[in-house]
Amino acid sequence: MTVLVLGGTAEARVLAGLLVGDGIAVVSSLAGRVTRPRLPVGEVRVGGFGGIEGLSSYLQGNSVAAVVDATHPFAARISANAAAACSLAGVPLLRLERPGWADETGASQWHWVSSSEESAALTATLGARPFLTVGRQGLDAYVGPLAASAALVRVVDPPEIDVPATWTILHDRGPYELDGERALMAEHGADVLVTKDSGGRWTQAKLAAADALDIPVVIVRRPAVPESVRVVSRPVDAAAWVRALPAAH
Ligand code: NAP
Repeated sequence: MTVLVLGGTAEARVLAGLLVGDGIAVVSSLAGRVTRPRLPVGEVRVGGFGGIEGLSSYLQGNSVAAVVDATHPFAARISANAAAACSLAGVPLLRLERPGWADETGASQWHWVSSSEESAALTATLGARPFLTVGRQGLDAYVGPLAASAALVRVVDPPEIDVPATWTILHDRGPYELDGERALMAEHGADVLVTKDSGGRWTQAKLAAADALDIPVVIVRRPAVPESVRVVSRPVDAAAWVRALPAAH
């Protein structure tokens, strides 16, 4: 049987490794957004499927027995497409999603918001030297409200939009450690940290650094997981789900 892992996350790479180790045929799918992606073991395909219909055709055309949607918590469109396409094609679907940071700290200065727009407007009121760690795709919402701010913007690949001349772009990719995060924020004189609730350990150190420096954090809530899709939070649990499928026996 072939399992399609919708990837682009560290958890997806771990899962691919577990399944390949079990002798299960895995195809990991990446959107192709990042110039030099970290690749999982096993077969990899890159690029969109062409919406729900395209993904459904792919599943049927490639005899995919199961799909694990291990995409990033903020990749809402592909998750919705996976739910609809698997339903159309009659293929079992599991969502592998790391826990959010909601319960991780008692930080008193966390401000939860529901959108990039709300985040940008609030950030503008909280500081003049924000540290933006929201990825490059949502950056456009911040351009207007933070046009005069001395923002430090950390991204993996260059932004695809024109950003204000007052912004500093930093190209880097996690994992990050507390000492480095604290030094970076202190050096910039960051007075507010802006993040999405991505969860996970790789990018968590910035939250502790903000706490240590006593600066506020603006944190964007996750989009909802499509209803009726079963969710697990650890790659080992997703691998166990695959092994328990009738097609695996
Ligand atoms: P998105 O808005 O949910 O998806 C947009 C479109 O990209 C989808 O409709 C699909 O195109 C294609 N796509 C997305 N993930 C794909 C995958 N794994 N394999 C094949 N096609 C995929 O996603 P996004 O927020 O742009 O994120 C793109 C990818 O980057 C995701 O796979 C995600 O795991 C990874 N990522 C995202 C974030 C984030 O903050 N959003 C952070 C880290 C990593 P078609 O409709 O043509 O199939």
